[in-house]
Amino acid sequence: MPLKKKGGNHQRKEEIAHNRLEYLWQISLSYATTMPSISRFYVSIMWEMGKRLNYRLDNVTVKSCFCKKCYTVWIPGKTVQIRQTKNSKRKRVIYTCLYCKRQKRYGTAHRR
Ligand SMILES: [Zn+2]
Repeated sequence: MPLKKKGGNHQRKEEIAHNRLEYLWQISLSYATTMPSISRFYVSIMWEMGKRLNYRLDNVTVKSCFCKKCYTVWIPGKTVQIRQTKNSKRKRVIYTCLYCKRQKRYGTAHRR
């Protein structure tokens, strides 16, 4: 069997966690539009696993681009509505989950 081993047998725990979580995330993404319920199921597994392994999911999903309440993968214009608000010097982005209507705000300006 042509099984490739990268870097020998000493694969770090974190690397394994990352690979597994990334794999789950890829599945969730691929089902996000076609079968949202399956996609949510995989996101929930990923979320639980990430918590259990104490692994920051930001490393996998780049941003927290899924709903922490209903686990819907956020696709702009399809599953999430993104609004930008500007007040004075603060810029804010508001994500509204179109499935459970949960809102998440992100501040994009840094305070000094
Ligand atoms: Zn939601």
